[in-house]
Amino acid sequence: MNIAVVGLSHRTAPVEVREKLSISDDNIKDSFDSLKENEQVIEVSILSTCNRLEIYALVKDQELGFSAIKEFLLNHSGLNKEDLYPHLFSFNQAEAVNHLMRVSGGLDSLVLGEGQILSQVKKMVRLGQENQSLGPIFNRLLTQAVSTGKRVRSETNLGTGAVSISSAAVELAQLKLGQSLGKDQLISLESEEVAVIGAGRMSRLLLQHLHSKGCSRLTLLNRTLKRAESLASDFPGLEIKCGLLDGLDDCLKCSTLIFTSTASDSPIITAERLRNFERKTILRLIDIGVPRNISADVSDVNGFEAHDVDDLQEVVARNQDARQKMALEAETLINEEANSFLEWWASLEAVPIINRLRSGLEAIRKEELQKALSRMGPDFSARERKVVEALSKGIINKILHTPVTNLRAPQPSTQRKEAIKLVESLFNLGVSDNDP
Ligand code: NAP
Repeated sequence: MNIAVVGLSHRTAPVEVREKLSISDDNIKDSFDSLKENEQVIEVSILSTCNRLEIYALVKDQELGFSAIKEFLLNHSGLNKEDLYPHLFSFNQAEAVNHLMRVSGGLDSLVLGEGQILSQVKKMVRLGQENQSLGPIFNRLLTQAVSTGKRVRSETNLGTGAVSISSAAVELAQLKLGQSLGKDQLISLESEEVAVIGAGRMSRLLLQHLHSKGCSRLTLLNRTLKRAESLASDFPGLEIKCGLLDGLDDCLKCSTLIFTSTASDSPIITAERLRNFERKTILRLIDIGVPRNISADVSDVNGFEAHDVDDLQEVVARNQDARQKMALEAETLINEEANSFLEWWASLEAVPIINRLRSGLEAIRKEELQKALSRMGPDFSARERKVVEALSKGIINKILHTPVTNLRAPQPSTQRKEAIKLVESLFNLGVSDNDP
């Protein structure tokens, strides 16, 4: 058995490929069903975010497992091998575990240490549980990944500062504004006519950052008006005009800066739509949706400047040096957590022999207890019988405690194998049909 991960991320694939792989909540069950159907896959979990799609699986054989996941990704994306495979990464066992811990800690994120990825890893656990695709190994692995993410945020400096894709998007707007004025610096958004499309988690973060960067009023459009109003009510310091998506054309006419962050499957702003407007000033569009909310062809339309999630690299790179230093602190913690999981995994090798040892001793205990009780005859009360039974169980548990702890303790595999053999021969425990 091996832990395998195959996937792609902002490091290996551009947004136009990533968006084809994205799995929406509506399709997640079908994806689990299709992966579980493969006889190579024992346990499986899916991490689908705007910047990555990763399939983690406990597989019978490493190479066959990799092929099974790649085949799934091929079918799911509708791409051909030549367009997909060069963008995929695959890791096995220790590398896969380490990768998951780094992802959860935010070390593999576009914005180093951002917090949303931890929520997405928690969502991966929930989806795995709801779709009955997790077993004992992945339950342990994913629980450890979540606690690693929490530790990185609480025990290292990487967790400080409210960094996210949304904060980077706001900084990109400030940078582009600065560059348009011939300055390579972030400019206050005070005088911008701002609109935000979408009222979900990312839009909430956009509003927070816009407010802190000088924006005092904006338009907030959403498919559901109530949700926009509810979000707006959480920002009493911002003057927010809420509306439905049919107010988008007005924004395209009058705004100077629009952020889009909806979970729509198809673009809501296209070149065709923009051609209806003759802009006197530039309208800057910043899209953090994946799949993209703004189609790629808008760059060809005069009067509009569009940026997608991949363009955030420019602003992220400016802050990366300081965060890279903080990331080093987190690496030590990540290695610790990954090693702790791998030690647990290695200790599973001893489980069959421990089970056989335990059941062998249990059989002896029951047999001897029965003999003793029958010798005691009817004078022995039920309470006394219970005490003797508890005594016999206590002795067995005490005897087993040290060998079991030693068999499961971290140690080189050769040493554990020797110990297993020794126990096997000393206690005459031949291989059972029930062993894996
Ligand atoms: P979310 O909290 O689930 O909110 C989804 C938003 O999209 C809601 O405003 C929803 O409107 C709207 N929406 C959903 N389907 C729509 C449709 N067919 N047409 C128009 N509007 C629709 O999602 P989120 O986490 O904020 O993510 C929003 C986008 O940002 C996604 O594309 C995501 O991939 C991307 N993103 C997310 C993260 C992250 O860490 N979460 C990071 C970077 C980028 P209703 O209120 O009417 O449902």
